[in-house]
Amino acid sequence: MNSLLLNTDGVQIPQLGFGVWQVPDHAAEQAVTTAFANGYRHIDTAALYHNEEGVGRAVRASGLPREKVFVTTKLWNDGHEHAERAFDESLLRLGLDHVDLYLIHWPAPKNDKYVQAWRTLEKIYRDGRTRAIGVSNFGIAHLQRLMDETDIVPSINQIELHPNLPQKELRAFHTANGILTEAWSPLGQGKGLLEDPALAALADKHGRSPAQIVLRWHIQLGNVVIPKSVTPSRIKENINVFDFILDHEDLAAIGALSNGRRLGPDPETFN
Ligand code: NAD
Repeated sequence: MNSLLLNTDGVQIPQLGFGVWQVPDHAAEQAVTTAFANGYRHIDTAALYHNEEGVGRAVRASGLPREKVFVTTKLWNDGHEHAERAFDESLLRLGLDHVDLYLIHWPAPKNDKYVQAWRTLEKIYRDGRTRAIGVSNFGIAHLQRLMDETDIVPSINQIELHPNLPQKELRAFHTANGILTEAWSPLGQGKGLLEDPALAALADKHGRSPAQIVLRWHIQLGNVVIPKSVTPSRIKENINVFDFILDHEDLAAIGALSNGRRLGPDPETFN
């Protein structure tokens, strides 16, 4: 499994992880256990997903040394003014003494409390209770403000990113500032995108599935990527993307699918 270096003290993040949004708590333990069995070592949850307990049970039951598993969770929008309490509650639900990455889930700019939240994340990081801190759904102006007004540059920005929404400008800003790009809904939530004829052609060419083609595109772009599935065959399929290469023409064909279509809310207005 490829890992990428975060901008914090040599911490590495497995480039491909397992997302668990919309997986109910009772199903999360099984899904994460299946993911571990297929080689995943990076799990992406959030307080909002209401499945931190199931994720934590799977991590603890896995028998894997804690340092071999990368766990991300996120601060929900109602917690910007009491982020430390929200973090304590997440740790308690996970049943862990630290996480690897803690993210502000959305900037919620109308509340305008994300700078305050970030200062608390800096404290949690300095206390050694998370190995790295980052953000999610931040635009360039939000990132710039953190860099201007606080001490630590976010290690990662987790954003909606798939072939229909390749986020070129934001990725360039991340690269220029040492921030990793992490793609959420990397498969376009499986709706529509995976039926695109251009992807079917590439799938035929490489003897892979459309989902594998899209995930390989993310890997070659340098994104951290966290596909979600609860179906064992798909969980397995989605991690088997490290033994083939898309060429320039393939990448250009996927690049042509860009149409600016978002699946999730606009971070500028979402609270
Ligand atoms: P995704 O793009 O990973 O798509 C998941 C869906 O695609 C599955 O439910 C299934 O229907 C389909 N699918 C999965 N594997 C497939 C395969 N091999 N073949 C065909 N279909 C397949 O969407 P997602 O769950 O929205 O995003 C992934 C993760 O990103 C989430 O679980 C969560 O961890 C994270 N996320 C974060 C935010 C945020 O605001 N930070 C928002 C949404 C999601």
